[in-house]
Amino acid sequence: MSVKVRKNIKMSVLNNYTDDFLQAAKEAHTYRSMRHICTPEASHVEIAGPAQTRDVLLLASNSYLDLCNEPELKQTAAEAVLKWGTGSGGARLTTGNKTPHEELEKTLANFKGEEAAITFGTGYMANVGTVSALCSKQVHRDGSISECIVFSDELNHASIIDGIRLSKAKCYVYKHNDMVDLQHAIDEARTILTKEQLATTRYLIVTDAVFSMDGDLANLPELQKIAKANNCLLMIDEAHSTGVLGKTGRGLAEHFNDKGIPCDHADVTLGTLSKSIGCEGGFVVGKQNLIDFLRNKARSFIFSTAMSPAMAQAAANNLKFIEQHPERVQQLQENVKFFCDALVKAGAVPTSSRLAENQESAIVPIVIGDEAAALRASAALQEKGILIPAIRYPTVAKGQARLRASLMASHSREDLEKAAKAIADVLKGN
Ligand SMILES: *Cc1c(COP(=O)(O)O)cnc(C)c1O
Repeated sequence: MSVKVRKNIKMSVLNNYTDDFLQAAKEAHTYRSMRHICTPEASHVEIAGPAQTRDVLLLASNSYLDLCNEPELKQTAAEAVLKWGTGSGGARLTTGNKTPHEELEKTLANFKGEEAAITFGTGYMANVGTVSALCSKQVHRDGSISECIVFSDELNHASIIDGIRLSKAKCYVYKHNDMVDLQHAIDEARTILTKEQLATTRYLIVTDAVFSMDGDLANLPELQKIAKANNCLLMIDEAHSTGVLGKTGRGLAEHFNDKGIPCDHADVTLGTLSKSIGCEGGFVVGKQNLIDFLRNKARSFIFSTAMSPAMAQAAANNLKFIEQHPERVQQLQENVKFFCDALVKAGAVPTSSRLAENQESAIVPIVIGDEAAALRASAALQEKGILIPAIRYPTVAKGQARLRASLMASHSREDLEKAAKAIADVLKGN
């Protein structure tokens, strides 16, 4: 066979696979394509179109505090580029570690009230690197082997799931936020271990702090009790709670403490710089020895170039801005309450919706169910000048498609009232 013929056979096998995959996605209404936005992230943006751009109210951003495009912060970020250049030039462990990285990690540890912090290129990399480092099999200096068993909430973010898979650790998936099922899984895991394994096995409970597609909160006080009673490490992913929950935006523990429910920090707290902080990168905070361990073990930290020093500087500046402006966090929280009330008043609560009237995170899901219906609702809203994406399988379970609104501190009351009414109209078929 000539090289050319062989190459053609190879291509046709590949095309068969890719085309089949894409066709199946189209038939299931789960095919993905990108929206092109031609203005910076803010509460109002323009969507590029074939003929003209279109102004929309954005209820879809992770930039909860609207810091991506904050004039004073853009200015200091620009100065950081002028001082530090465009790239870091190396991994953190070679030449990449510059003064802004050191400052950012100090600022993060201080903001979160922890001993130390480590940053990664993205939140995704932080989860993959941290979970796989914590949960992989360990051969100790004395030759003994310890393994880890993971207990993971069924709605955890994909990056946590990928970290668990990479670790090859045994994983029990417990029912969403169901503490009885979690305890049950722990008991079950232990019954099948030998005496020797019981003595050496490590355990990790891992959960989103705010669930990214439902917007509900992990039960941190109860998780801490269970972790303590069963000798498990507890890890929470604060991607959607940092800068969002608690009077000063410190996250889930502050949220419970504000309510008079005493609550410590988790053993491992992960977050992202890309959401409320308005930059990019991921981080973990905790005890100094945890951070030292991750610097030595997390492969997504070791084998990847450091974020640009200018980005590290921008993230530290934005974090300090949040520290100095708790009223921005409180404005976001007021907007969430106002919007949920407005939805209820407008009658925009379909029977299948799990919309909580006392929603506390900035993510407000309006569950529709059918994938095609959710897509139609999102398209109809865009026609009315409001961008709220439809979230479908595989991001959420099949038949659980939804509109997923997310709020910003800078949305006005008029914006939110208009959006609530438009959602109600679309759900009623107007
Ligand atoms: C967005 C998100 C991440 C990933 O963070 P990036 O910085 O966007 O890579 C991780 N966990 C959760 C829960 C998230 O929502």
